[in-house]
Amino acid sequence: MPLYADIIVNITASALDRTFQYLVPEEMKASVRPGCRVDIPFGARTVSGYVVGLGCVPLIDPARIKPILGFAPKGIALEDRAMELAAWMRERYGCTMNQALLTVLPAKKAVRKGKTKVASPAAEEPALIPPVALNEGQQLAVSAIEEEMAGQNRPVLLHGITGSGKTEVYMAVMEKVMAAGKQVILLIPEISLTYQNVRRFTGRFGARIGLIHSRQSQGEKYETVEKARKGELSLVIGPRSALFTPFPDLGLIVIDEEHDESYFSETAPRYHSTEVARKLAQLTGAGLILGSATPSLDSYFKAKSGAFRLVTLENRAVQNSHLPRVEVVDLRREMKEGNKSIFSRSLQSKMEERLARKEQIILFLNRRGFAGFVSCRSCGKPLVCPHCDVSLTLHRGAQLKCHYCGYQIPAPETCPSCGSPYIAAFGTGTQKVEGLIGKMFPGAKVLRMDADTTKGKEGHSRILSVFARGGADILLGTQMIVKGHDFPRVSLVGILAADISLYREDYRAAEQTFALLTQAAGRAGRGEIPGEVVIQTYQPDHYAVETASRQDYEAFYREEIERRGLLHYPPAGGMLEVLVSGRDEKENIAFTESLAASVRKHFAEQDAVVIGPAAPFRNKVQDIYRQSLIIKHPDRELLLKIAALIREEGKSRVQSDLY
Ligand code: ADP
Ligand code: ZN
Ligand code: ZN
Repeated sequence: MPLYADIIVNITASALDRTFQYLVPEEMKASVRPGCRVDIPFGARTVSGYVVGLGCVPLIDPARIKPILGFAPKGIALEDRAMELAAWMRERYGCTMNQALLTVLPAKKAVRKGKTKVASPAAEEPALIPPVALNEGQQLAVSAIEEEMAGQNRPVLLHGITGSGKTEVYMAVMEKVMAAGKQVILLIPEISLTYQNVRRFTGRFGARIGLIHSRQSQGEKYETVEKARKGELSLVIGPRSALFTPFPDLGLIVIDEEHDESYFSETAPRYHSTEVARKLAQLTGAGLILGSATPSLDSYFKAKSGAFRLVTLENRAVQNSHLPRVEVVDLRREMKEGNKSIFSRSLQSKMEERLARKEQIILFLNRRGFAGFVSCRSCGKPLVCPHCDVSLTLHRGAQLKCHYCGYQIPAPETCPSCGSPYIAAFGTGTQKVEGLIGKMFPGAKVLRMDADTTKGKEGHSRILSVFARGGADILLGTQMIVKGHDFPRVSLVGILAADISLYREDYRAAEQTFALLTQAAGRAGRGEIPGEVVIQTYQPDHYAVETASRQDYEAFYREEIERRGLLHYPPAGGMLEVLVSGRDEKENIAFTESLAASVRKHFAEQDAVVIGPAAPFRNKVQDIYRQSLIIKHPDRELLLKIAALIREEGKSRVQSDLY
C-alpha cells in the first residue's frame, strides 16, 4: 500500500495549514516519522521540508504526487530542535503533530509599529539595593549546581524552605551562564509574575530581559520572541509557554515553584512543563533547575532515586528570620465548646494583637477542590472510597460516588464514624468572610483577593502592591495569595479551613494540601518581625496537616510515598487517566466499557489493571456526558502503548493523561 507524507516547507505557525503531500519511497517507509527532515522536489527546485503527518489516503490524483527524494541532513539548529520537541510531545501526550507544533512554534503575527509598548519595569522604579552577598548555604548550593551542570548535567532539584533565598541562587547561576554568552529561560507561575518579583531580575540584569504573560497581545509576544531568536535577550521570564522561547544558545532553564499546577497544560497537547523542560535540556545541553519549598512527589522521588540531583537550603536567608511558630486549632473542639464562628478564639485574639501593633495579617481561605465532597462537622471525617482512598462526591439523586472506580452509596443521614447528624457539604466564600471580618474588626482595612477581584486588567498585581506598601491591614484570599510573595511586615497568617483541599477526588489531594499549607504558612515572618501561623482544621491529626505545621517535608514525603505505593499510585507506578465523552449517556458508558474491554484483551498478558468506567464529579459538561477509566501499571512505556490504542479506537472522544 502506498504511504503518503504531509510536509511543510517553512516552519512558522501560520505555515501549518500549508502542507504538501508526497509519496514515501519503499526504502524510507520503515524509518520515516513525523518530525523528520526530508528533501523534496518543489516546483523546479529541490528544497527541504519537515514531515508532519503520514497516511494512506491521497488528497489529489495519485499519479500527480511526487516522491520524497531522501532524508535531508540536519538543518538550521533551531528549526530541527522545534521539530524534534514537537515530535516527542506528539508521542508522549498523544496529540497531533499540528497541535504540538502550534505549541512549540511562536505565533507569527505582525506588530503594528508604534502601537505596542513593551513594559520596562526598570525604567519606572528607583534603583535596587546592591545585590546581597550569598550566605554559606546559598554558596554551597550554587557550587553544587555548577558542578552538576559541568558534569553529568542531571536536572537539579533545589529544595529550599520558604524564604531560604532560592531566587538569589538562581540569579547567581544565571549570571555565569549569561557571562558565557548563553541564554536563560525562567518559568514562574503566572500569578507570581508580579512587579515585585520581576524587578529583582531587571534590577540585576537590566534591559536584556523579556517578559511573556497572558495579558500581552500576540504582537507584543511576538516581538519578545523575535528579540530572543536574534539573541538580543539573555533572559525570558514567563509562565509555561515561555519554555518555547527560541533562544539560539540556550544555557539554562529554571522552573520556580516547580510543584505548581499551572505547569500542567489543560488543553492539547496536555503537557507537563517539567517533562518538556527535561527533553529540551537534553536536546540543547542546557542545565535545568527545579526549585520549590514543597517539591512535587514525583520530582523528589526522582531526586531520591538519583535521576535528579538534590540540592537543599535549610535556613531562612534573612538574618534573624526564622520559620514561624505554628498553632493547630481543632475546629471540632471549637464547635463543642460553643464557638460556631469561622474564627477560632485563638485566631481572633492574635488578630486583635496584630491590628493593635500595626502589623499585617494574611488570611487564607482554602477553596481548592471545593466540589461536592461531604464531611462530618462533629468528627471531621470526610466520606472516602474504601477502595481508592479519594473522597466520594455528591451527585444528583443524593448518591455518593467514587470518580476512580465507580463505587457508590446513598448519602448517609448520619456520620458513619461517629453517628453525628451534622454531616453536610462544607463551604464558605471569601465575600462572606470579608463581611464577618468587617463586623468583628470594624477598624481594619481588608483587601480581598480571589477570582472576582482579580479579573481586571491589572488583576492581582495591583492588590499585591497595595498590600506590600502597607495599604491594608489584612489580605484575605484563596490559593492565589500563597505563591511566592514576599511581605516582610506580615507577622500572622491564619489558615481558615486547612483540610478542605484534602477532599479532592484526586490521589494527589494530600500532596497539594501539604504544599498549600506549607506555602501559606511560609508567608509569615519573612522579615525580622517573628511570624506566627494559626491552622484551623477538622483533622488536626491528618499527616498532611501535621507535617505542614512543622514544615517537615521529609516526614510528609515518607508517609505519602508509602501510601502511594500501597495503592499503586504514581510516582512509584504509572497511571493512565482516560476521560471519554459522548452526547448520549448510556451509549457513552457502553463505549467506555468497550474501550476497557479492548485494553483487557490486547494487554491481557501484561496484567494491566483497568478500573472503571466511572462518572467523574463533573460528569456532564455542556450537555456532553463523561466517563473515566483508570489504568495502572508499573511500566509507563506500556501505558503509552495503551493510550495509543485507546486513542485509535476512541478518536476525538478520548482525552488521556499519563502520570
Ligand atoms: P525563596 O524564593 O526561597 O522563598 P527569596 O529568594 O525570595 O526566597 O528570599 C527571601 C528573602 O531573603 C528576600 O527578601 C531576599 O531578598 C532575602 N535574601 C535572600 N538571600 C539573602 C542573603 N544572602 N542575605 C540577605 N538577604 C537575603
Ligand atoms: Zn462524624
Ligand atoms: Zn473507588
